[in-house]
Amino acid sequence: MKRFIPVLLLIFVLIGCSNQYEKEPLKKVTFHNIHTPTMSSTLPLNGKRIVIDPGHGGIDAGAVANNLYEKDVNLTISKYTKKYLETLGAKVYLTRDSDKALTYEYRVKTSIYYNADIFISIHNNSDVPSSNGTEVYYNEFPYMGENNPFPSESKQLAKAIHDSLTMLGNLKQMGVKENNYFVLRKNSIPSVLVEVAFLTNIDNANRLKNPDDLQAFASAIAIGIQNYFLPKESEVFLIQ
Ligand SMILES: [Zn+2]
Repeated sequence: MKRFIPVLLLIFVLIGCSNQYEKEPLKKVTFHNIHTPTMSSTLPLNGKRIVIDPGHGGIDAGAVANNLYEKDVNLTISKYTKKYLETLGAKVYLTRDSDKALTYEYRVKTSIYYNADIFISIHNNSDVPSSNGTEVYYNEFPYMGENNPFPSESKQLAKAIHDSLTMLGNLKQMGVKENNYFVLRKNSIPSVLVEVAFLTNIDNANRLKNPDDLQAFASAIAIGIQNYFLPKESEVFLIQ
């Protein structure tokens, strides 16, 4: 998995200097290169405001399996995702940055407070031990008369993150799915809930314990978000 990190870093740099990529051979790069002031005005997510919502927290542990607490894994992936999105130029707001319980209402109000463009809730899954991979949810159909007002945009965002996580993160495709989760139907902006991997699957769980894998998953989420915002012809999926 370590090989994914340099690949992803390379992608980040290529985003900002695609013209140079045409002219020069690929060079080894470091994250430090991305923060040069000359590139700041051309970062792909400049001006975008994104809420990242680490699922569960505090007394609500979420799923617990294979010596993992979902709330902790969610928070770690969310923090890495924030870092990568900021590298791409976005303003990023976490609903929580520590181990505390939040109401669903508070999570949704965070989008309103920061006038966010999109809302991403980060979770990890549980099921029978054989279930593994990534699924991403959006809301289309009403529940109690309420639904997200941007179902097609939410579905596009869900697909972009799902495709990026499964390709760049090397996770099995479990698909893009519809659900009326509170944080999806109550938000008034494009919103998705990402189930990155399964705590209950031993292979997925081992990857969720590995910092390199967690960073790769976060990078993949960030690139999926970038692909949602970028014009179709500019999409970046995978460089091998
Ligand atoms: Zn969860």
